[in-house]
Amino acid sequence: MSTLTKTEGAPVPASEETFLSVRDLQVTFSTEDGPVKAVDGLSFDVQRGRTLGIVGESGSGKSVTNLTVLGLHNPLSTTIDGEILLDGKELITASQKELEKLRGNRMAMIFQDPLTALSPFYTVGRQIAEPFMKHTGASKRAAWERAVEMLAKVGIPNPKERAKDYPHQFSGGMRQRAMIAMALVCDPDLLIADEPTTALDVTVQAQILDLLKDLQQEFGSAIVFITHDLGVIADMADDIMVMYAGRAVERGTVDDVLRAPQHPYTWGLLNSMPRLDSDIDTPLTPIPGSPPSLLTPPSGCRFHPRCTFQDRVGGTRCVDENPPLGPDRAAACHLTAEQKRTIFIEEIKPRLG
Ligand code: SF4
Repeated sequence: MSTLTKTEGAPVPASEETFLSVRDLQVTFSTEDGPVKAVDGLSFDVQRGRTLGIVGESGSGKSVTNLTVLGLHNPLSTTIDGEILLDGKELITASQKELEKLRGNRMAMIFQDPLTALSPFYTVGRQIAEPFMKHTGASKRAAWERAVEMLAKVGIPNPKERAKDYPHQFSGGMRQRAMIAMALVCDPDLLIADEPTTALDVTVQAQILDLLKDLQQEFGSAIVFITHDLGVIADMADDIMVMYAGRAVERGTVDDVLRAPQHPYTWGLLNSMPRLDSDIDTPLTPIPGSPPSLLTPPSGCRFHPRCTFQDRVGGTRCVDENPPLGPDRAAACHLTAEQKRTIFIEEIKPRLG
């Protein structure tokens, strides 16, 4: 896990053009035990040239949201409502054929484990060349040359030779680079990266994150970066959305949210992560309890069974009423703006150091 530092340096050039727009997304799975609403009323936008970091614990709905955007859910057991617009095109009602065309061409995904994306039976070069041939109609030779060029771009030494290797001949970090090359070979406008560096050691993790930033500068893609690690978000993202139990609970620019977080769950996440400047003996403070089952989610604010601030709201409002999330910079919590500010400054910030 990385520690929380905000990278200085040239900002990623931002365009205000919204490329992905999600509105009131609801994703429900049918299970033997009953319906599970994994995503409940989620709305967000991603602009070209910007990175949205989605953070939350396992089961918060962050990965489900992105598999839904890509159309990679099981249509037989999943019900989807709401709106997903990719450059103005509605994806929820798109056919599998249309989605297939968009995947790899206009949108691509980098997974946590490259072995889920790379086949052991084909050379790395062929696996990068094939989507390029499929989506652009390039010749075999031109696609192979493009694969070698992409391997060079992601920092694989001796790419001409290494393109002929099979995935098992690559190290973990090289496989991750190869998967990034595969995802970017058609210059997708939207790149979804789901915990792409979790399995890698810290040095390789930093190299891959730098590579993604460089490639975004070059290709101007919109990136959705999914992680449980706020340190990675601080390093990678322009905007942040914090998810809990299928809902967004806080959002804003990374600077705003990390400098002055407003939601008790975000406070808990910050409290539970190690910091570069803290004493090695300083104990981490985990959020009490565990995320709820979405088969029977808590009433009202879904965080209430784990929240130590509900007495400040008073009465049973936290248990009874779902706090709405406003537009732009917002936190879905019944505490008043003044309470959020004061609690953060007086009680949370001193603990963060
Ligand atoms: Fe805590 Fe209540 Fe705010 Fe939910 S609405 S985060 S329970 S204070």
